[in-house]
Amino acid sequence: MARQFRALGHEIVTSAQMAELAVVNTCAVTNEAAADSRGKIRQIARAGVDEIIATGCWATLQPQQANALPGVLRVVTNDRKDHLVSEVLDLPQAAFDLEPIARKPLPGLHRRTRAFIKVQDGCDNHCTFCVTTIARGEGRSRSVAQVILDIQSALDGGTKEIVLTGVHLGSWGQDFGMHLRDLIKAILRETVAPRLRLSSLEPWDLDADFFSLWADQRLMPHLHLPLQSGCESTLRRMARKTSPQSFCELVSAARAIMPDVAITTDIIAGFPGETDDEFAESLEFVKEMNFAGGHVFTYSPRPGTGAAKMRGQIKPELRKKRNHILHDVLEESAKSYRQKFLGQTMSVLWESVSEMGEWGWQMEGLTGNYLRVNAFAPSPRWNEIDSVNLSEADSDKIKGIIINQGQVSLR
Ligand code: SF4
Repeated sequence: MARQFRALGHEIVTSAQMAELAVVNTCAVTNEAAADSRGKIRQIARAGVDEIIATGCWATLQPQQANALPGVLRVVTNDRKDHLVSEVLDLPQAAFDLEPIARKPLPGLHRRTRAFIKVQDGCDNHCTFCVTTIARGEGRSRSVAQVILDIQSALDGGTKEIVLTGVHLGSWGQDFGMHLRDLIKAILRETVAPRLRLSSLEPWDLDADFFSLWADQRLMPHLHLPLQSGCESTLRRMARKTSPQSFCELVSAARAIMPDVAITTDIIAGFPGETDDEFAESLEFVKEMNFAGGHVFTYSPRPGTGAAKMRGQIKPELRKKRNHILHDVLEESAKSYRQKFLGQTMSVLWESVSEMGEWGWQMEGLTGNYLRVNAFAPSPRWNEIDSVNLSEADSDKIKGIIINQGQVSLR
């Protein structure tokens, strides 16, 4: 959307105070996310923007509430989202379809060095906690040609890392008899993207053979596999198409090919009917998996979902308590994962630069396996990839020393 606005002569600014119009892409994945979305709209209105366009999942599910918020000029539901800019500016969609628009980085302190390329939308599953399927509809994939065109324009704009995203990324191609592996092979073959990363993948969409793709060093060794619960019966109530055993086999298969792969996850704390025993089973499994990190979501009933109607809703205090316990376990395993790499030299893509100080420019970036690294450089290295020796753990980051500017032989 920013690219389209910019292509038509508008300027993308860094703060609400400087904006005349704001587009807020709302989220409905949890009650908290929906409240944050409303809070963001109010905050932007307070900053003086009186032309706010609300879009995304929460605005689609609650259009009247969204319209009633201060400053909201109109609501664009998800089915119209691809045409948002043309509708807001009252221009025919054809104005945007003529040629790809270069993906220049957006302004701001933390400018994006990664381009998030949406390859599919919607989902055909019905996980009982998930409101996304209701808000986004059935799964539909973009063609290989469209995706490659989008990646090409991102690379032309200087992007070094491509991240493939989708509501249910692993289902890409099912609507025309292809598999995500076919898309990845095509991207590796037809583009020169230095780094390719995959966002969240549902475990049941993958098999052991999938990981052979990582023989190509441009594919980043990071897999985000949402587990949601490590207890078999809870997973059944969630209608997840996986079990602790099959999840464990998949993780072992990935680690057999990439011993140092970062495997991160999402867990829901306090799903309806989760007994103390079920929680203990889940917690034990999460410990065994030695995740490189993850997010814990406190369960919140979303209207219209199966789980909201289930008996045995867990008291909010207990949900929160379980969240903290899971969070601490994931923090601990993330810490030991980071420790394994101290002393090693890895490639880092610098994604932010702060003011120059006594030691030079303070850089921050990510390794291929998603370790956050800080280092000093004599000149700004934003959007460059360097070889960095990881010298010291520093809370959830690692301090590094740049060894070779621009010379990278490792992932
Ligand atoms: S697979 Fe993901 S998007 Fe689809 S219903 Fe389940 S949680 Fe929601």
